[in-house]
Formats: sequence, structure tokens, C-alpha cells
Amino acid sequence: MATQTHTDRYRPPAAPDVLRLPLIGRLLKARRGRLILQIPFLIAALLLVYDGFTGPALASQNLATVAPWVHYRGLVIVALLFVGNLVCMGCPFTIPRTLAKRLSLRGGRWPRVLRNKWIAIGSLFGLFFVYEWLDLWASPALTAWVIVAYFVTAFVLEALFTESPFCKYVCPLGTFNYVYSTAAPLQIGVHDREVCRTCVGKECINGSYAAQPVIKIDAIGGDGAPTQTHTNGPDGVLGCGTLLYAPQVKSNLDCTFCLDCARACPHDNVGLLARRPGAELLRPDSWPRRWDLAFLVIGLAFMGLINAFGMVPPVYSLMQSLADSLGLTAAGLDDATIEFVVLVLIFGIGGLLIPAVLTLLTAQIVRRLTRTVKRDSLRATVAAFAPAFIPLGLGFWAAHYGFHFLIGVWTIVPVFQNFLLDHGISVLGAPNWTLTGITDMQIIGLLQTVALIGGFAGSLVIAQTIALRLYRRDGLIGLLPWAVLFLAMMAVGLWIFSLPMEMRGTVLFD
Ligand code: SF4
Ligand code: SF4
Repeated sequence: MATQTHTDRYRPPAAPDVLRLPLIGRLLKARRGRLILQIPFLIAALLLVYDGFTGPALASQNLATVAPWVHYRGLVIVALLFVGNLVCMGCPFTIPRTLAKRLSLRGGRWPRVLRNKWIAIGSLFGLFFVYEWLDLWASPALTAWVIVAYFVTAFVLEALFTESPFCKYVCPLGTFNYVYSTAAPLQIGVHDREVCRTCVGKECINGSYAAQPVIKIDAIGGDGAPTQTHTNGPDGVLGCGTLLYAPQVKSNLDCTFCLDCARACPHDNVGLLARRPGAELLRPDSWPRRWDLAFLVIGLAFMGLINAFGMVPPVYSLMQSLADSLGLTAAGLDDATIEFVVLVLIFGIGGLLIPAVLTLLTAQIVRRLTRTVKRDSLRATVAAFAPAFIPLGLGFWAAHYGFHFLIGVWTIVPVFQNFLLDHGISVLGAPNWTLTGITDMQIIGLLQTVALIGGFAGSLVIAQTIALRLYRRDGLIGLLPWAVLFLAMMAVGLWIFSLPMEMRGTVLFD
């Protein structure tokens, strides 16, 4: 860690800073603070892999299927809503990062052509598709393989490249977290930009690690002698892996909440600052106006619908009628191939094609109605309104993942008891397989409706703010097409979530 040989002038923070809270702040900023979260996650991941390969084949009795598909996904939503990207902060896949970084000292940067979100969109889409096609939720061994693949890919990419391309450009779980942590009430920021302006080492991004102690001169007095110094050395930490520069951070996109920037900053200038939930979605300059980013956010909202649709009865009728009308059944193809083809069609059309067409169409109508065709490009219009899709998308995912989590919240108890018993540990007693969660569907339905309507209302407010900013007196006209699109999406969501959903990962289903 950087050593300070001077006392910085304390400036009261503009916003409350979690890192300045008495106990938790010190804990989080400690050199190994992240490990406090990562070690439990690592132990859990290793247990899941072990049970996935050696434990019960029945999904509802195996840690590898119950913990990730029932509990992890529900807790992610809760964390994103109330804190932020806690899951990336505790991510065990990056534990070997320091070792990998040392291997990568001679590595190059991630290819420029890949420095965007297209791979992440593909990996997210791929994970959702594989989950449905291979029934990952029903296969402990396949789920265990997915976890192993994560560890290997993260390590290899960290070792080959000087930045953290896995987190920034590839990881589907991280990408999901980045997108919805934009609604979270915490964000990295600095207390005093003037300190950053004169900071010589920019350790928040460059890191404070050095093989040998290196003295950095922060300020030179009138007589030419150094007045402020700090030392970087072997105890230092790596800088921001996703190459965010703390004083310029305006969004939670790409921020893993690793807090390396705060640990590396020799001037104690970085904070985990409180903000209004979703504040960045209302600011015009929070996000770069890029196609990849806009389609990631918009596509993820639509994927929330398609993913939920994959679990309700009409999907089976649709799959059957697609298989019949395309002649797949008559062609004598086996069931696995037929399922692959029809799922590619459903996911491709519903998760990629329809979002792209509807978004471009809506943006084009808005440009014509507001007479801004010449002033605003299609890309600028789509990108400007992309943040408005966050609350609605979050509502879909909360309704979906919340359903599994609430119904199966206690299922982890008998599964863990069973795991211990299988290994000769009876301290927690015999598993009680009747433990599930909230089984009153009216309560769950009510919560889902609140999530959907709340998401719709949030999207409407954000779109209205954007429309008024862009079109002033024509703001209402500019809002209308987006409002119709959001209303249609919410109506489809209400229909899907009103249908009986498969209770995957619980004994009720198996
Ligand atoms: S956040 Fe800290 S390390 Fe980064 S530029 Fe500012 S003062 Fe320097
Ligand atoms: S800005 Fe970078 S270093 Fe700081 S918490 Fe976010 S990802 Fe980590």
C-alpha cells in the first residue's frame, strides 16, 4: 500500500462516503478487505463444483443447482437495488488476479476492435440460451462445468492481457451487474478534484504496486525541494482493472466495486459515495453514446421477458408449432436438435431481432415527430433513451429471479444438511425436504406486479426527463412513442408473469 509521508488537508465530502464509516470503511479499504467477501464466495464456488461433480443427480438436492439458480440470482437483485455491485466486489474468479497480472507484465492490451460490449452481449445471450437449451438448472454437473470454465477463462485472460478484459468485455454475470448497478445508490467518486489534478502517480488507475519501493514526489516547494512524497512498493495494490479513472467516474458501468482505486490512492481521495438511486440515468453525460452499450441495455430488458417466457406453458406450444411449421418434426430430426433450432429462433427473434427493430423504429418515429432527423443521428437518439430501459428491465428480472428466490428461499437448508450428511457430518441433523419458502402465489404475484409497474413508472420518468431535455416544448411528443413501447413491454410482462411458472430448483418441481 502506498505510504504517506505528509498529511493531506481533510475536506468534508460532498456526499456521505461508506469508506469513511467507522468500522466498515476501514475494513473495506484494508489491503485485503476485498478478500473478506471473496473468501466466502470462493469456498461456496468450490463447494458447488465439488457437489456438482460428486453429489446427488437430483437438481433440487444439489448445491450446484440450488445455490446459483435459486439463491444467487435473487440476492444479486437485492444487492443491486440496495447497495450496488456487491457480487463483483466478492467475485472469487478474480482472486488469482495478482498472480495473473504478474504473468501478464509483458502482455499487450485487449485488441482495440474488441474494446466494446459486443462480446459481452454475445456471452450474456449465450448464457441465457445455454441455460434454457441444456437445462442448466436441472444439471448439477453442467453447472459445475460452467463455474470451472469461469475460473479458467478469467485467469487466462488476466494472464494474457495487461488490463482486466474478462471483467470489462467478456463476463456475462459482470455485464448484468454493471447494467443494473446503474440504478444503485452508491458510486465511486473523489472528494476533491483539485487533489487529482496535481496528483503525480494517478495510482487509482496506475496502481501503487512496485517491485521495489519507489518514492513519488507529490509537491515541490519554492526552494525546489520536495515537500510531499509518498512511496509505492511491493505492498501496493493494482490500479483499476477496468481502466476507470476515479475523478472521471460518472457511472457504475464497468465498475466492479473492487475498491482498488481507493486502496491505491495515496491521498485518501477516493470514496464510495452515496447518491440518489438511478441518479446517473437522469444525467446526459453519464454514458458514452455507443451502439453496443445501448443495445446491451435495451436487449437485456427484452431478454428479461424472453427468459421468463421460456418458463411458462405457451413456450412449449410455440416450440411445437415452430417445429411442425418448419418441417423439423417431419424431417425426422432428434428432439435435441429440434429443441436447439426452435430455441435459437425464439431467443434470436425475441431477444435480438425484435428489440433491435422496435428500438430503431421508435427512435426513427421520435426523430420525425420532433423534427430532429437532421440534428440527432439515429444512434444518438437510441443511446440517449437507453438509460430509460433500466428500471423496466430491472423490474422484469426482479419479478423473475424474485419468484424463484422467494419460493425456494429455505431450500438451501436441507440441501446443505444433505451435503453434510453425505460426508458423515450430522451436526445439522437430517434434511427437512418440506422447507421451501413463500408458497402463497397471491403474495408472489402481488410482488411481481409491483416490480413490473414500479419499473414501468421509473422508465417513464427517466424517458420524460430525457425527452424534455432533448426536445423542450416537443418533449411530450418525443416521449409518446417510447411510452407506448414501455407500456407494451409491461403488458407482455404482466401476461407472462400471470401464467404458471416452472418452479425450478425446488422439490416442488422435481
Ligand atoms: S483519485 Fe487519488 S490517485 Fe487518483 S488521481 Fe485522484 S488523488 Fe491521484
Ligand atoms: S473504479 Fe475501478 S478500481 Fe475503483 S472500484 Fe471501480 S472497478 Fe474497482
